[in-house]
Amino acid sequence: MVLPNVTDAPFEVLMTDTLIPDREAAVAELGGLTLRTNLFIDGGFRPARDGRRFVTENPATGQSITDVAEGGAADVDAAVAAARSAADRGVWARMDPGARKRILLAWADSIDAHARELGLIETIDAGKPITDTVGLDMPETAACIRWHAEAIDKLYGQVAPSPEGTVATITREPVGVVGAVVPWNYPAQMAAWKLGPALATGNSVVIKPASTTSLSLLRLAELGAEAGIPDGVLNVVTGPGDTVGAAIGRHPDIDCVAFTGSTEVGRRFLAWSAESNLKRVLLELGGKSPQIVFGDVTEMAHVAAQAAVAIFWNMGENCSAGSRLIVHRSRKDALLEALREELASWPVGDPLDPSTKIGALISKPHLDRVLAYVQVGREEGARLVTGGERILEETGGYFVGPTIFDGVRNDMRIAREEIFGPVLSVIEFDTEAEAVAIANDTAYGLAASIYTDDLNVAHRVARDLRAGTVAVNAYAEGDMTTPFGGYKQSGFGGHDKSVHAHDQYTEMKTTWIVLRGSSR
Ligand code: NAD
Repeated sequence: MVLPNVTDAPFEVLMTDTLIPDREAAVAELGGLTLRTNLFIDGGFRPARDGRRFVTENPATGQSITDVAEGGAADVDAAVAAARSAADRGVWARMDPGARKRILLAWADSIDAHARELGLIETIDAGKPITDTVGLDMPETAACIRWHAEAIDKLYGQVAPSPEGTVATITREPVGVVGAVVPWNYPAQMAAWKLGPALATGNSVVIKPASTTSLSLLRLAELGAEAGIPDGVLNVVTGPGDTVGAAIGRHPDIDCVAFTGSTEVGRRFLAWSAESNLKRVLLELGGKSPQIVFGDVTEMAHVAAQAAVAIFWNMGENCSAGSRLIVHRSRKDALLEALREELASWPVGDPLDPSTKIGALISKPHLDRVLAYVQVGREEGARLVTGGERILEETGGYFVGPTIFDGVRNDMRIAREEIFGPVLSVIEFDTEAEAVAIANDTAYGLAASIYTDDLNVAHRVARDLRAGTVAVNAYAEGDMTTPFGGYKQSGFGGHDKSVHAHDQYTEMKTTWIVLRGSSR
């Protein structure tokens, strides 16, 4: 989820809107698409060993798009065997770094060239607005692969200050076979956050998309093979979490597993690692991120615009969503009014329509879960200001408009549990210490925003917040140059993005050489 508001620039500045089709063109292009629906193992597509398939549906219509190969443990075994063979043969890990870089750059260029096709696939499979998928997700997916590719031949090892008569080098080597399990909210981008650094550092990968969103990753893998990624280096096994995901978690020949998803499932990967081969586990998990608005802010319309992006962008299906709006009591009414005005420019509707800003929730069970939380909020005594119900039901899709609860206390379930939908909890505070205490009173620690015109407050509070990313006067996660990861139950073990992402996919080796003829 590299964010559109890394700087204070408006959304549009960072988006590639020239590629975004109008609705009519999108529908016509969809008719001509050939979807890839089989497992991608050892450089080619193949059905699941036992021939099973499952339906993937369009969340904006509730209709089936196609069916997809339902992998199982035997398919994971086959993918891991292909990945291990590629690793052992050194076809990728020992390739000249410049050559590996050129292949990944060619892949990134190909993703850019296919952004419209990939974006359309993502929109029908995930319910995300076409403006986001074509204009942002796919360019960012390509940019992520490109960024890590460009680093390959620019990262050096070290020579230690060892005693006379010795030479000691500290070098990095690929960890070997990486298993990756990713969520459905940014299917292509989350895959790229794993694949970029894992492949750049020379690993072979077996990756599993969420079962609701298999289609874009299968096409990405094919484009990767066409760009020159050798057979067996990138394998995609589609299927359910509790079979394919678990088989990856338990596999004795996977060296490292990179997981992005819920805290609940993340725990299982830790347990499976302990029970199997102690594979390295990298966890990027959930969040309940605070946005603190201090009493001195002058640009309330800007704060409201950022706060809306923080919680309503991507239907609130965003790990770093700013779901708790912690506002100084003196400014709450002004902020709510500014939010109301801001929401006039957040149309909910058909994700294929370029004017849509809020598309469909991912599935009927998820819709029910979000609505159940709205009910919980009501029962807990919070005041529903807007939204909170299913809309556009006649489409068959799973739509919920922006939903705001006022009068929320931080001990309410809607303030403590990750809803992963367009539901904002507004909580009031009186003092800076109280704001910090409320913000930190959560099991999570992924991201936070602070809004203030006072630099002293900004620095003080940024230091006090227990979160992996703190943004000041914006909702932002930084960009590809900055690491992204959580504190507390938002995950640990490594970071996505930046050169820090490379460390987690490499082993550190010391080579200690005693020089012949030396006195030691
Ligand atoms: P999820 O945990 O249900 O699923 C994530 C992945 O794990 C999917 O591929 C799924 O098929 C698989 N999975 C599900 N159950 C499994 C099981 N029992 N065993 C093994 N694998 C299993 O999460 P989700 O609903 O796809 O995504 C939403 C969650 O992801 C939220 O909690 C969100 O905060 C988190 N997320 C975190 C980040 C981050 O960078 N920190 C980014 C995006 C999403």
